[in-house]
Amino acid sequence: MFCINQRTIKKEIMIKGIGLHSGQPVNMRLIPADPNEGINFVRKGEIIPAVIDYATGFEFSTTLSKGDLKVGTVEHLMSALFFTGIDNIYIEIDAEEVPILDGSAIEFVEKIKQAGIQILNEEKIYAVLKKEVIVYENGKFIKGKPSDTFTATYHAHYNNRIIGNRKYTYSHLKADFENVAKARTYCFLEEVEMLQKMGLAKGGSLDNAVVFEGDSVLNPEGLRFDDEPVKHKVLDLIGDLYLLGFPLIGDVYSYKGGHRLNAAFVRKIIDEKAFDLKYPSQIGFKNHGSLVA
Ligand SMILES: [Zn+2]
Repeated sequence: MFCINQRTIKKEIMIKGIGLHSGQPVNMRLIPADPNEGINFVRKGEIIPAVIDYATGFEFSTTLSKGDLKVGTVEHLMSALFFTGIDNIYIEIDAEEVPILDGSAIEFVEKIKQAGIQILNEEKIYAVLKKEVIVYENGKFIKGKPSDTFTATYHAHYNNRIIGNRKYTYSHLKADFENVAKARTYCFLEEVEMLQKMGLAKGGSLDNAVVFEGDSVLNPEGLRFDDEPVKHKVLDLIGDLYLLGFPLIGDVYSYKGGHRLNAAFVRKIIDEKAFDLKYPSQIGFKNHGSLVA
C-alpha cells in the first residue's frame, strides 16, 4: 500500500551494533525530521544526504561520503526506511558503518515500529517512472519500466544448488515487505578469506550473515526462507533505489545486479530525466493505508 503523507519517526531511536566490514562498534541515533528535509546521515556534525550524489563505494555494500567522512553499508537501513514509508529522518552515527545487526533489515523495521511513525502535514512525493531505462554490465542488467505500482524483481543465476536460478518479486501492493526485510546477507566460505584480505567482512559472523560452503549452509539455524539469498538481493536493490531521494513508482527487474549496477540505474534515471515527481493526489492512489499500521 502507498502512503499519502510524508512520515518521520515519533521519537528518537538508539541502535548499537558492529559494522559488518569494519568490525567496529557503532552507535546510531535516529532523530525525527521535518517535512521535505529528506533522509540525512550525520557524521561528526556534518550532514551527508542519503542520495545517489553522495554514493561513492559499491564493493559488497553501498557507502556514502562527503570529503573524508564516510557512512558504509547504508542499504539495509535505507530499505527499512522505504518499507516503513519514512521520508524524513536524521541518522547520527559515531563510526563509519551502519550496524549490521542480524544481517537483514527487520530489526530496523521493528525499532521504527516501536518508536512509532509520525504522519506529517505534507503530501508525500513519488518519483513516477515515465519511460523504460536499462543499464548493463558484463552480462548483468537492470531494467525499469513504467507501472501503476512499485515492484522490484531480482533474478539470481548461480552455479550453486541453494541459490541457483531463482527469481523473487517484491510487490508494494501486497505489502510483503516483512519477507524481504527478514532476509539476511550471505556469502560463500570461499570468499571470506578474499574479503578479509580486502579489509572487508571483519565483523562478519554466523550471527549476521548466512555462510554457504558449496551447497550447504553453515549456520546451525539454517535459512529463514528457501529463497533467502534472492530475497536479500531484493532488499539491497530496494535500499539502493531509495537513494533516488524519493520512492519510485515503476517495475524494476535486476538480472544478477549488485550495488554498483543499482547505483548506475539510479544515476541513469536521473540523467535521462526518466521520471516525474508527483503527489499521491496526482497519481490517484486508492490505498490510504500504511505499510506498518
Ligand atoms: Zn545486503
